[in-house]
Order: sequence, then structure tokens, then C-alpha cells
Amino acid sequence: MLTNIKINEERLWDSLNEMALIGATDKGGVNRQALTDLDKQSRDLFISWCKKENLSISIDQMGNIFARREGKNNALAPIMSGSHLDTQPTGGKYDGALGVLCALEAIRTLNEFNYITEAPIEIVMWTNEEGCRFPPAMTGSAVFSGLHDLNDALLIKDQSGTTLGSELARINYNGSTICSHRPIGGFIEVHIEQGPILEIENKNIGIVTGAQAQKWYEINITGMEAHAGPTPMTIRKDALVASAEIVLLVNSIGNNFQPGGCATCGVLEIANPSRNVIPGNCFLTIDFRHPIDKSLQKMDKELRKNIKLIEKDKKVEIEIKQILELKSNSFNKSIINTIKDVSNNLNYTSKEIISGAGHDAVNINSIAPTAMIFVPCIDGISHNEIENIYKEDAIRGTEVLLHSIIELANNSSKIINN
Ligand SMILES: [Zn+2]
Repeated sequence: MLTNIKINEERLWDSLNEMALIGATDKGGVNRQALTDLDKQSRDLFISWCKKENLSISIDQMGNIFARREGKNNALAPIMSGSHLDTQPTGGKYDGALGVLCALEAIRTLNEFNYITEAPIEIVMWTNEEGCRFPPAMTGSAVFSGLHDLNDALLIKDQSGTTLGSELARINYNGSTICSHRPIGGFIEVHIEQGPILEIENKNIGIVTGAQAQKWYEINITGMEAHAGPTPMTIRKDALVASAEIVLLVNSIGNNFQPGGCATCGVLEIANPSRNVIPGNCFLTIDFRHPIDKSLQKMDKELRKNIKLIEKDKKVEIEIKQILELKSNSFNKSIINTIKDVSNNLNYTSKEIISGAGHDAVNINSIAPTAMIFVPCIDGISHNEIENIYKEDAIRGTEVLLHSIIELANNSSKIINN
């Protein structure tokens, strides 16, 4: 490893702070939703910084921005790194911006040290990662990866009926480069963890090995409304009591599938609630996650088997509708190992970790060797204006990215697909 090459810590931190001024909120967060005037300002600033580094800019039909630094052998597929600049309405300063600006700092450092890698390097800024204004999330990287149709994406409407395509044109980011995948030697996304594990275990770097499998369900429980006074306990068909049993069941399934299982009932609604009526209809949602597909299947089995018992015991009808299924994602072993080696060489503590949230990297993993670097965030909080990180953690994440990029760009033929 080229230990003499070091990032400029203040430059990184200043750029993060300068970017965070665009859409800054009173509570210290950022509201910079996709394809708003503020999003345009953040893109313009990013591009102006890239141009100062003599990078060549291309913008594709989804408004994804690529900033390229040539290598010694430009026939090689580029090593790519980046994330997103859009935020949630109650977003923070680092979710997304960190990944883009770490990649920029890596390139600034290489320029400063006049160091040319074998393969070219590209920074990428993906459009509409958050999906809060234009659902679903991660559309820029999904279209690029061939997982979402371009024309469908351009027709996604926000709540006022304005389309994603017309907003792209309005802010002048409807680029001419075809939005479709091309050879990428390797992709690394730096991101805040958005969870508390690294902080709790006092680790500097999260080496993300993949993303969880998920199943989402909607449950309808039908019992019978009846008077709370005259109806004896023995003959009741109480939909809420059955729901309560399901909530406890879901929680115990989560606990029984450790390590890794997550099980949540996020919504529970009683139809026509009244204090002296036994609830007759309830609706609840279940979110199951596990890093291992087989374990998630077993969680599903447990759920269905036990719901049958609750149905019988509580004399209600329970309808289970699965509304989403995502398979687990394993990132590229060569890139994971590179990140691990670099992290060790820099004497940082690290931990392998599975991403609980979706990221652009998960889409890119379907077309190119991919991995992620997580940086701890304070109290694990994100999608919140108080989201925060320590400067030292941002610095460590960027050092790991820089040296991983150098390794990968100089040895891209050694990246093995898995
Ligand atoms: Zn993000």
C-alpha cells in the first residue's frame, strides 16, 4: 500500500459542510429532495468541483452524473465509486453526500500526488436514491442496471403530478448519454451505517458483505363485532386479541432467528374502533428480514404455521398477503477482501456487516463486482435532521476508499466475479 498518499482531512470536511448548506434546515439537517432546485444546486456544485480536478463529465438520460479520471490504460473498465446527493425531507448531511464526496476526495488526493492508476476511475452521483418525492427509491441506479425501464422511470409522478422526466429537463439534467450499463471493473459505495452496530462495538469501518433478504406481508384479521358487556369471553371472536398474538408471534420469530433475523409489525389498525365494541376487523403489516434466504423461508413457515393456530384458537379468519420479496445480496469477495486488507494496513478496527437498508450498490451488484464501506453514525440515526458522524470516522472511511480504489484500479484483472 502507498502509505505516503494521504487524503486532505480539512478539504474533505469542508466540502461535506459546504454541500450541507444546500437545503440546510433549522434543526441542522438537509431537505434536498430529488430534482428540486436545491438538487440542481448540489449537482452544479459537485460538477464544478469535478471540473476543477480536470475530470470529464457525462450525464445520462436519468440524470446520473459520471466524472471520469483517465488511467494509464483506458481500455480497462473503470473503477467506480459514488452515491447520491438527494435527501429525505427530514434528511441529514451525510446520507448519500458522504459517498459522493469521499470519492471526490480520493480523486483530489490522487491529483495532488500526481498518481495515475492503471484503470480509469469514475465518480458517480445516482439520481433519486431516496424515492421520497418520486417513489420507488434508487431509480437512477436501477435504470442503469437494467432493473427498471427508462421510460417508466421518466413517467414517475410526484404528489403534484409532475413527472420525473419533466423535472430532469427543467433543471437541465436530462443528459444525452444512454442510461444503460457498460463494463465496470468494480464499484464501491461509502455510506453511513444508518444503524448502531459499529458504534456499539467500537469499530471504525464496516465492511459490507451484502444486503438482507426481505419479505413484507399484509394481514387481515376478521372476527366479529359484539357488545363489550353482554358477550361472554368464551364465545368472542376478537380480531384485536388475535392481532396481539400475531404481534408477539412475529417478535418471537425475530428473536428465534438470531443472529440476523429482524421481524417487525409496523402498522396495526382496528376498523371502526369503539371502547365498548369487541374489535371485529384488524389490519397489520409484517416486515421480515434475514441475511440468509433459507432462514427467511423458515421464518415464513413459522409465521404461517402459527397463524393457523391463532386462527383456530381465537375463532377468527386470518388472511396473509405477501406483498414484497427480495432475495439476499452477496457483494463481491475480491472487493470485500481488498477493503479488509486496506483497513488492516491502516490499523483501523473493522467488522463485516450486512446492510439492513437498500442502497444503489445493491442494484449495481447485479451488473458489476460491488461492495460497500460503512462509516459509523452517531446513535445509529439517519433519515433524521439530527443525523451526525464524527469527522475522524469520515476521514477513516475515505482513506479506506482511496487505497481500495488504488488497489483495484491497479489490479482490476484480479477482481474475480462471484
Ligand atoms: Zn443513502
